[in-house]
Amino acid sequence: MKKQYIIAIDGPAASGKSTTAKLLAKKLKYVYIDSGAMYRACGLYALNHNINLKDVKSLQQMLDKIDIKIKYTEQDNKLYLNGEDVTFRIREADITKLSSEIAVIGIVREKMVELQREIGKDGGVIMDGRDIGTIVFPYADFKFFMIADVKTRAKRRWEEANEKGENLNLEEIEKEIIWRDKNDTTRKISPLVKAQDAIEVDTSNMTIKEQANYLFNYICEEKNA
Ligand code: C5P
Repeated sequence: MKKQYIIAIDGPAASGKSTTAKLLAKKLKYVYIDSGAMYRACGLYALNHNINLKDVKSLQQMLDKIDIKIKYTEQDNKLYLNGEDVTFRIREADITKLSSEIAVIGIVREKMVELQREIGKDGGVIMDGRDIGTIVFPYADFKFFMIADVKTRAKRRWEEANEKGENLNLEEIEKEIIWRDKNDTTRKISPLVKAQDAIEVDTSNMTIKEQANYLFNYICEEKNA
């Protein structure tokens, strides 16, 4: 594959976006960008600096000062917030909720979209999120929209947490996912919605390997067609 494509993968929480995107990035030797991590970093900054999300002036000051850098490695990406490695901290439950709350704010989204476009502009990139195929890269070469039923998604998150030794409650995870789905799909700016030209992939009964192969084969077939 010669051209360096932009591949957008959107969908709700735990629908299989990031695991699929990571595997696909390895197969294609592309860079994987997790746009959600950027909203998580904004949430963490706001928490650490006591920023009131309703105070536009403080938010603007925050956006002037915030510095988000992603370091790409073969294994995994690392996210630095104003120089500090916050890769693991941004995955914690308080930040998960806060990321969805801060992601409804227009000026926050403007800044994150600008950053995402800058990182992805030369292609050779797979970016996952909620608005990648609709807003960030409406002209992406490939767009996928991943879905899965809520019980499957909650179980995936629960198993991931178990593997990390975190003892979380399955029902609580399910509630949190339902809350985030609602918040992400009903917000006024850039709500989570399938782009008209995106390929929908229901991952409810697929393994990670099957998901990545499905996308990989689709891309190869399209480009050879
Ligand atoms: O993808 P992840 O679950 O880490 O994203 C955290 C939150 O960031 C989402 O619930 C969503 O509110 C927000 N987000 C967004 N647009 C994106 C990526 C994430 O609004 N492109």
